[in-house]
Amino acid sequence: MVKAAISSSITPGNVRITYLPDGYILFNTAAVFPTITATDWQVYRNELDDNGQLVGSLGAYLLQTPEQTILVDTGLGPRTYESSRFKCYGGQLLSHLEQAGLNPADIDIVFITHMHADHVNGAVREANGELALIFPNARYLIRSAEWHRFDNQPERRASVADALHLLEHRIEFAEEGEDIVPGVTVLATPGHTAGHASLLVTAGEERVIILGDIFYSAVQIEHPEWTNSLDSDPEQAKITRRQMLQELAQPSTTGAASHVANSVFIQVVTAHSGFQLLKR
Ligand SMILES: [Zn+2]
Repeated sequence: MVKAAISSSITPGNVRITYLPDGYILFNTAAVFPTITATDWQVYRNELDDNGQLVGSLGAYLLQTPEQTILVDTGLGPRTYESSRFKCYGGQLLSHLEQAGLNPADIDIVFITHMHADHVNGAVREANGELALIFPNARYLIRSAEWHRFDNQPERRASVADALHLLEHRIEFAEEGEDIVPGVTVLATPGHTAGHASLLVTAGEERVIILGDIFYSAVQIEHPEWTNSLDSDPEQAKITRRQMLQELAQPSTTGAASHVANSVFIQVVTAHSGFQLLKR
């Protein structure tokens, strides 16, 4: 039976990458993939729960290099977010961080793949009516294109308004091709949002690509062309998915897709006319 991923780690070279679950997400398939029929879903019924909802993981990554401790995204935090397209439930991240032997003050860098509630609101805590950032010592990094997409669109700030407010004087920009630490490189992967970023971790021969929300589900590996309503630019998102599948199909390359169920760490091979999920 399909489940949200539990905590697990991989260790490319001298880097340890740990998936830290925050909770889970349930996608309304008809609302997220409006052009995909029930017959198409039959092939992927193992990805659905008993109510026909697409089950997804929800969490963040801990990257421990010899010099730095990096958190990639922060989860949703102890709250619920519900819309017609999906529901998500967070709040487990800090206990998983503690199980990894760390507390919030140990995080040196928070890298944000994109400013959606389920990736950034876990950085915000509220105590006695006061809002504060949970990771007090961290540098907060994001692509400038992602930060600036809120400049002139106040109506779209609502779901991440607290994070935008708290980060206003803390945020730093890390752009395409830049190493946030040696061996961890920013990739511009637009489509889901205009300034969406991924991270390429290179350790000797091994590569890991932290994919943000390029793929929400295993079905998008075999069907990168499936249009979905969560991508702000669906056509660009398809181009990005195909480019990333080419990269993921290279030798010694692992993907990390934070909403993919069962395990967020995936391996992809070329097959027939497209790509196939080899293992997760
Ligand atoms: Zn997401």
